[in-house]
Amino acid sequence: MHPKDLIEEKFRLNPFQKEGLKKLGLKNLQDLLFYLPSRYGDKAELKHIDEVKNGELAVVCGKVLSTKISKSFRGGVPMAEMVIEDDSGKIKAIWFHQPYMAKKVPEGKFAKLTGQIIIKKTGRSMVNPELEETGSAEIAHHGSLFAGNTIHQTPVYPETRGVSSLWLQHAIDKLLKNKIHESIEDIIPDTILTKYHLPSLQTALVWIHTPQKDSDAIAARKRFSFEEVFLIQLVKLKERKEYESNPSFKISTNEKEIKNFTERFGFKMTSAQTKATEQITNNFRESKPMTRLLEGDVGSGKTAVAATATYSIINTSPYGKDFGNLQVAYMAPTEILANQHFESFIKYFKHTGISVGLITGSGCKKFPSKTNAEKWTAISRSQLLKWVANGEIPILIGTHSLIQKTVKFKHLGLVIIDEQHRFGVDQRLRLAKKTSDFIEGKKLPVPHLLSMTATPIPRTLALTIYGDLDLTLLDEMPVGRKPIITNIVTPTQREDVYKKIKEEIKNSRQAYIICPRIDEPDPDKELALNTKSVKAEAKRLKKDVFQECEIEILHSKMTPKEKEKVMDRFSLGKINILVATSVVEVGVNVPNATLIIIEGGERFGLSQLHQLRGRVLRSNHQAYCYIFSESRTEKTWNRLRAIKTAKNGFELAEMDLSLRGFGELCGGKQWGISDIGMDAIKNIKMVEAARNEAKDIIDNDPEMKRYPELREKTKGKKLETHFE
Ligand code: ADP
Ligand code: MG
Repeated sequence: MHPKDLIEEKFRLNPFQKEGLKKLGLKNLQDLLFYLPSRYGDKAELKHIDEVKNGELAVVCGKVLSTKISKSFRGGVPMAEMVIEDDSGKIKAIWFHQPYMAKKVPEGKFAKLTGQIIIKKTGRSMVNPELEETGSAEIAHHGSLFAGNTIHQTPVYPETRGVSSLWLQHAIDKLLKNKIHESIEDIIPDTILTKYHLPSLQTALVWIHTPQKDSDAIAARKRFSFEEVFLIQLVKLKERKEYESNPSFKISTNEKEIKNFTERFGFKMTSAQTKATEQITNNFRESKPMTRLLEGDVGSGKTAVAATATYSIINTSPYGKDFGNLQVAYMAPTEILANQHFESFIKYFKHTGISVGLITGSGCKKFPSKTNAEKWTAISRSQLLKWVANGEIPILIGTHSLIQKTVKFKHLGLVIIDEQHRFGVDQRLRLAKKTSDFIEGKKLPVPHLLSMTATPIPRTLALTIYGDLDLTLLDEMPVGRKPIITNIVTPTQREDVYKKIKEEIKNSRQAYIICPRIDEPDPDKELALNTKSVKAEAKRLKKDVFQECEIEILHSKMTPKEKEKVMDRFSLGKINILVATSVVEVGVNVPNATLIIIEGGERFGLSQLHQLRGRVLRSNHQAYCYIFSESRTEKTWNRLRAIKTAKNGFELAEMDLSLRGFGELCGGKQWGISDIGMDAIKNIKMVEAARNEAKDIIDNDPEMKRYPELREKTKGKKLETHFE
């Protein structure tokens, strides 16, 4: 056997297993070895049938009394049944979707079943247990069977239909016994392993799959989590090195002009905004491209910084020309946001007389209109693209539509990406490469890159996933903002909160009510029963609570046009209460909305709650946030209370990280990091070590010529974030 051999060539697989392995992305033996357990559980114990308890994982053996293939009562799902018996009693096994199981062990032979026990009035049963044929001798010598069955920790693997943890355990065990792991190359250089006391790959694989003691498993996990972060760092730092190897546009910003520009804002820039602007203009003065991330809480004023950066770009002539100007592309993740940026940019740039364009899936706009210098006008896509391509429109704002092939710039000098974690790396790069400037014999100049995010994330995570970016924090709120009043509300206080909303609405303020779901809960899903849905809640509120109010809904299943219409009406104050899902999470700006109610607070991560709360932090009016929770556990309440005490989003993000459990909302998957990688994210020393080692390699050997395995492993690898 060889690590690159296909699993299906070395194991006998049924169609469900084949399908399941495909779903898990496991093709060859090496993949299987790198499929790591998510935890360790007790080993299933061999028991007499009358000894088993409800809910426990157990192994039972017995003679097959009967087998049957049938359809399930309700869904018509094909199923197999088998009854086995030992000296002490009988148990029935049922398999759904696997009718062939009934034929695996014929009546009269002996079978071994492993799985979870269900005991009801009708008798004992097991659903979809593992099935093996055993010899009668084994059953006869019951005693010896028990003797060999020492109990220790067994690995538990994430399962999928057709591929059980138990199957994985056996399969991986077989690979280890055949020493397949010994022929896999360790990609971490020995010097690094020694320096940080990490086990070699071979040892770590044995320890993680078949630990003899806890410390083995821990040491092995540490190695794999280091490896993951180390690889991410290599990829990120290499990406950055590559981007910086291109020239960019040298922007000689005129301090005085910038000052004149910002003085028109109607507010004084915070010192954090001023500092951010300085860092950006300093980068512009160099001929290498800027790659900077501007990270700041909702409402910290990132758009004003983006506008100032834009101003400094469009005032600059392209390379070697003393006429014409550079262009700016500003991409936002939703149409609502793109439209809002378009409106704010019109305000920021109206006095300059330059044009601003908007491109989204539902149409294009241009400011100013030919007939009215104060207003924008709808224009055709082809017309807009023509003006962008010939440089007449210096600023183009848009959604993903911006990265389509047909969108071409004349001299793209700056790319701004708002809520950048919502875009894939590919999308960001595609926008950055949209330049048509080409100077004979030279490398293509690339635009400067300004990414922005309102998602505060822990420092360790930022160092990892943004390893290719310089970080600027906007850690200061504009003056005059009153801190938001946040309350965690028990179900009995609901009426009081509704009273409060009525008062605010009388003062002509507006409210958001956030529900975790769009539709009525699926009655089959027990867990969902208590979860409020946008549609039902809006109806209920209109009927029973706020009869006089204008209530509308907003959620992700609406078309962009519908959403835009609702948001417009909400901005104009024509809607009093907007019942929505977390789609309003990103950057929506309605200063008159001062109240937000979040239903099912326990279903959101702390960072997400903080983001939602930011929706009502847009003005100098006192803002309120009420978080409802139906949960009664102490843990949930403690977690929610943190939102009251934390000073800022960064603190909450750190808390999210330390409270993180399996499958929680705030897990690493959305950042493209596995559970095991998240172990490292909890450990700043490990992240820094991985970063330093990666930096050392890339600085001295950018092509990783001395580390062919590392080069192979990082080639074409991208860290993708998955956000919803
Ligand atoms: P975000 O960082 O969430 O993108 P925005 O840029 O949308 O924040 O700014 C939020 C609001 O605060 C806007 O209405 C903007 O005009 C206003 N604003 C920005 N900077 C300041 C400031 N320094 N002083 C007062 N208001 C500001
Ligand atoms: Mg914003």
